[in-house]
Amino acid sequence: MSQVYLNGNWLPIEQAQVSVLDRGFIFGDGVYEVIPVYGHKPLALEDHLARLDRSLAGIAMHSPFTHKEWAGIIQQACTLEGSAQQSVYIQITRGVAPRDHAFPIGVSPTVFVMAKPMAPPPKSWLQEGVFAVTHMDFRWDCCHLKTTALLANVLLRQQAVAQGAVESVLLRAGYLTEGAASNMLVVSQGIVLTPPRNHHMLTGITLDLILRWCTKEGVSWVEGPISEQSLRAADELLMTSSTREIIPIVRLDGAPIGTGAPGPMFARLLTGYQSYK
Ligand code: PMP
Repeated sequence: MSQVYLNGNWLPIEQAQVSVLDRGFIFGDGVYEVIPVYGHKPLALEDHLARLDRSLAGIAMHSPFTHKEWAGIIQQACTLEGSAQQSVYIQITRGVAPRDHAFPIGVSPTVFVMAKPMAPPPKSWLQEGVFAVTHMDFRWDCCHLKTTALLANVLLRQQAVAQGAVESVLLRAGYLTEGAASNMLVVSQGIVLTPPRNHHMLTGITLDLILRWCTKEGVSWVEGPISEQSLRAADELLMTSSTREIIPIVRLDGAPIGTGAPGPMFARLLTGYQSYK
């Protein structure tokens, strides 16, 4: 079993222990990041570290490390794990203190880093697409922060799984926000549409990379509100995330999206993303 980083030490994961009074355990008072690693190199590391800084700032915490120090720890985790394709998970909580909602004073954060092998998405998902279901987005108003308090996302993803689907597509007041653990791209008449990147969704690094690629390659894309009606009438619907990359959704609530098969924009974006990687 590979070694993990916990508060300055490297140790086997079975030996890595955190107090039951850790505010991550008690309140979900912490943030996290997931960084994909290809050919032993973290993808878009600066973007992930910048988002980690934003998440920390959003919960009134400071990063315990500089980006250079983070890069060293991440590289060490990857080297110890060894696989060419991995994901690195970073979690920082406000630390250990007697249970009280208000912030404790003079407490050190808990810092945890682990690397694990990352399997590519199943080939059948890319060739045939996946099913998704819609759900009301009942999360809070700080979805732009990548916090460990993920119970709403857990319940929403589980509802999809219980319905035989891969993802829940979330609607807030009749408009698309994102997936339970992914971002959504809608393709309509050759144009890529993405919901407004605001506090109702996490700005995905994968989404950003794909949109940057679109700009470079001259693929038109627009950021703006996407109604439930436009979502259901889409030619293509794609989900993106660091660990699942880009996956076509071909059925939503049992009804086909477009032709009901992965479309040409998916093929184009997948090729672009693979070459970028
Ligand atoms: N939204 C949510 C709610 C997520 O949990 C994730 C990551 N799993 C994403 C979007 C995609 O973000 P990224 O591309 O940075 O992995």
